[in-house]
Amino acid sequence: MPCFMCNGNADNGIILMGKQICCLCEEEIVSTSIYSYRYFYHLERIKDLWMEYLESGKN
Ligand SMILES: [Zn+2]
Repeated sequence: MPCFMCNGNADNGIILMGKQICCLCEEEIVSTSIYSYRYFYHLERIKDLWMEYLESGKN
């Protein structure tokens, strides 16, 4: 299954809220500074993830 964040190989990754995330992205999320623009990028992605998760729970 491809990584939800980068579409790379996520075979060694984690499942976050039902989405596969590769270990590189996981590491990046954990280590990204709040001053980095990437933090906001990830924040947006995780927000999308949550929205999707909550939407699917409604049905
Ligand atoms: Zn990734």
